[in-house]
Amino acid sequence: MIALTELYKGFRDPEVIRSLAKEIATYASLIDGNVNIMEVCGGHTHTIMKYGLNQLLPDNIDFIHGPGCPVCIMPKERIDHAAALANLPGIILVTLGDMIRVPGSKGSLANYRANGCDIRPIYDPLDTLQIAIDNPDKTIVFFAIGFETSTPMTAVLIDQAEKRDIKNLVFHINHVLVPPAIDAVMADPKAKVNAFIGPAHVSVISGAKVYRPAVTNYNTPVVISGFEPVDVMQSILMIVKQKAAAKAELENQYSRSVSEEGNLTAQALVNQYLKVREHFRWRGLGPIPSSALMLRDEYAHRDAERVFAEHLPNEEIDDHKACQCGDILRGLCKPKDCKVFGRGCTPETPLGSCMVSSEGACNAYYRYNGVTE
Ligand code: SF4
Repeated sequence: MIALTELYKGFRDPEVIRSLAKEIATYASLIDGNVNIMEVCGGHTHTIMKYGLNQLLPDNIDFIHGPGCPVCIMPKERIDHAAALANLPGIILVTLGDMIRVPGSKGSLANYRANGCDIRPIYDPLDTLQIAIDNPDKTIVFFAIGFETSTPMTAVLIDQAEKRDIKNLVFHINHVLVPPAIDAVMADPKAKVNAFIGPAHVSVISGAKVYRPAVTNYNTPVVISGFEPVDVMQSILMIVKQKAAAKAELENQYSRSVSEEGNLTAQALVNQYLKVREHFRWRGLGPIPSSALMLRDEYAHRDAERVFAEHLPNEEIDDHKACQCGDILRGLCKPKDCKVFGRGCTPETPLGSCMVSSEGACNAYYRYNGVTE
C-alpha cells in the first residue's frame, strides 16, 4: 500500500519550491509595477501562511486574501437566524464544524448551546438523516453553509430526505457562489487585485469555465490552483509569466482534478433542489446579486426561512466596530492592520469571523505568522 506521505511528498518538496521561487523572481523582474494576487479560497490562504510562501516572493508580487472562507463571509444576521431557530422549542439545529464558534449579534451558537439549546456540530451532512430518524418528535434544522464545494452534499441530503419521506428535516440554506464574489471584489473602486488564484475544490464541481467572464471582463489572469505549496507556487509562476507577456488568460494548474465542465452529476442534483437567490448579504462585501442559493418553491416545506418566517429577525447587523474583516475580505488590508489582532481578538476569543475558521485570514496569520512582525 502507498503511504499518504508518498502521495504528497513531491507537492511539498522544499527544493522544488525554492526553484519555483527563483523562476518567479526571474519573470517578476520583467514586470513593470506590482502584481497583487488574490487567492479567493481560504484553503490557499492556509497553505500560503503555513509554508511561508509569502516570504518567498519578490517585492513586486503580493498576496491579497479573498472572501473564500464560508464561515468568514457569513453575516451576523444569518447566525442570528440559526440562534433564533435553535431557541425554539422542539428544534435540533445541526451545522458543520467551525460555524458554531462564529459570533452573532448576541453570541455564538456555542454560547446558545451552553445555555441549553440543542445544537449539534457534524462533519458529514448525511449524519443529519440519522439525527432526524432518531428524534421523530423534534424538527431538525440543517444550517447549510459553504461554496460550490459543499452544496452538492446538501443537495444529497435534501434528496435523501425527500426519497425517504423524512418529514421532520428542514434546511436553512446559506450556500454561496464564487464568481459573483469575484465581481463584487472587482467592482470596488478601491480594488487592488490584478490576478486571481482560482479555488481548487470549488472548481472540481463548477468546472473551469465559470471564470472565463472574469478573465474577459477584468482583463485579469485566473489560474485554478491545487492546495499544496508546489501547486500554489506553480500557479504564481503561471500568473507572473502571463503578466510578463502582458496576457490575461484562464489556466488550470489543478488539471489533475478540475475539468472545463466540472462535475455535471453534482451540478444537476444541486439544480434539482436549489435555485439562485436574488440577493445575499456577504460579510464585508455587502449585498451581492445572484450570489447565493435557496430552495426551489416546490420544496418550500423544507425551507426553514419560510416554515419559521415569523420567528426570524429581519435586521442587518454590522460587525464589531474594531473588526476589519470587511476590508480584509475585500483585499483592502491584511490581518495585522487590525488594531485588535492577537490582542482583543484571538482564535480562543474571536471578535470577528476571520479569526474563527482555519481558512480565515486572521486565524492563519495568528497560527503561522505570530502576533508581531
Ligand atoms: S483580527 Fe479579529 S477583529 Fe480584527 S479583522 Fe481579524 S477577525 Fe476581525
